[in-house]
Amino acid sequence: MRSDHPLDRYDVPEPRRRAARAATAAVVVAALVPLGFAGWLGWEAVAGPKKDGSGVAVGSLPAPGLATGPAAGGTSASGAASGSAGPSASHPASRAASASASSSASAAHSDAGKVPAASGQPLAGKTVVIDPGHNPNNGSYATEINKLVQIGNGTTNCDTTGTETDGGYLEADFTLDVARRARTLLEAEGAKVVFTQDGATTWGPCVTERAAIGNNAHADAAISIHGDGAPASDRGFHVILPAGVDQGAADNLAIVAPSRTLGVDVRAAFHSVTAEPFANYISNGSGLDVRSDLGGLNMSKVPKIFIECGNMRNATDAGEMTSASWRQLAAQGVVKGITTFLESGN
Ligand SMILES: [Zn+2]
Repeated sequence: MRSDHPLDRYDVPEPRRRAARAATAAVVVAALVPLGFAGWLGWEAVAGPKKDGSGVAVGSLPAPGLATGPAAGGTSASGAASGSAGPSASHPASRAASASASSSASAAHSDAGKVPAASGQPLAGKTVVIDPGHNPNNGSYATEINKLVQIGNGTTNCDTTGTETDGGYLEADFTLDVARRARTLLEAEGAKVVFTQDGATTWGPCVTERAAIGNNAHADAAISIHGDGAPASDRGFHVILPAGVDQGAADNLAIVAPSRTLGVDVRAAFHSVTAEPFANYISNGSGLDVRSDLGGLNMSKVPKIFIECGNMRNATDAGEMTSASWRQLAAQGVVKGITTFLESGN
């Protein structure tokens, strides 16, 4: 039987998490609440959350150029949320979502000549690295995943088992499923998609290797998909952005700004598509956390974020996360955010 490793509860040791949060929460709130969060509140009041999956288009993208920097990122979040209140556009991605689920990256590229890039293959030439958090087999390899790896400003475990719902649905199974759904959608848009693991390995890889895979792929965007394991009364999703770390083998300073833009775009899109609220237990409900204790972010050289799609220990969130149709929405939300980011010239 696998057991709850202390590190799994919130994915990382709690004291370090809070230290990172305290240092950045004020900045995050100051930068984002006036524009992005206020805009979101306005949208909520007018339109309410979308709950009908069939009506959720991977469209209604804000105009290109909105998400070009940290300041504009707040505008982007507001714009994306406001845009989603309008009519559901028939975006190419919606059509792509119903297309062949078996298309590979190479097949998508070979089709590029048949479909105008402007409409059918908006992500042609882009590389997206998806990191499905943890590994379903990690629970059987405690020695391997508990070894320490260097993440610049310290050490951390190679990997962790992740959390699970009270019913025993593993976070690692959730992350793989959402990642595979997102891959199908991204490939239909013409992107090359690289996974850090696809459930076929016995354990890991280590968080440092997960970052290296994104770096070696020269990813235009990278995302690590997770589910959280917070107390049962907590719910909601949040995006984790890299804090700047220039220490030891880590130097991610160049990706801090573009990663924030990516994160703001994914936060807006994930919320608009899934109707999942911003986490009520992180960063004053802003839906954005900034951390310096995650190897996958410290060691990244490409724009990268984590998303905690929900709290697997919360009954409402667990009900969603164990639903295949909700996981499809989660994938659509992630892909919509990445598409917004990449179509804005990133
Ligand atoms: Zn996790």
